[in-house]
Amino acid sequence: MGLLEDLQNRSGNQCELCGATEDLKVYEVPPVSTGGLDGSVLACATCLSQIENPDTVDSNHWRCLNDSMWSEQDAVKVVAWRMLNRLKSEGWPQDLLDMMYLDDEVLAWAKATGEGQDAADMVVHRDSNGVVLENGDNVVLIKDLKVKGSSMVAKQGTAVRRISLDRENAKYIEGKVDGQQIVILTKYVKKL
Ligand SMILES: [Zn+2]
Repeated sequence: MGLLEDLQNRSGNQCELCGATEDLKVYEVPPVSTGGLDGSVLACATCLSQIENPDTVDSNHWRCLNDSMWSEQDAVKVVAWRMLNRLKSEGWPQDLLDMMYLDDEVLAWAKATGEGQDAADMVVHRDSNGVVLENGDNVVLIKDLKVKGSSMVAKQGTAVRRISLDRENAKYIEGKVDGQQIVILTKYVKKL
């Protein structure tokens, strides 16, 4: 049997990503050196064209990953992981990614094409409750903080308006308290 027939048998003759039953083709998951049955996915024309042309991605189509990310096939998981990374700014794909578990080996495969790399390097600031902070947000101090290099104490409950984020370090933000620009640890603030 050829690869296409093997994949048709494995999948029950449907797209392993979205379940469509027409226009099914072999997708060798890059890098193709893995190849073969374990390195391939049976995918429909809609999925394939969107995988290959990121500009044409219709995020709603990929809600199908909600199911297919739980596939037992590593190749399917790798494609799901890459597409979710590509779409994660939409919010729900990030939630799915957070639920997803890949073995180290499979994760290395998933990352081999560079998809999702920016995300790993991205510095994300979170407040004491884990809420993501952005430049310009307003926060409140959840405890009294001694201000380094001065005798000032920033009191618990003080609102700090229009914070700015430390671009290198997710632990720090800056903001003005009593007219003075101070550095604050994110774990001591709560977003307003
Ligand atoms: Zn499909």
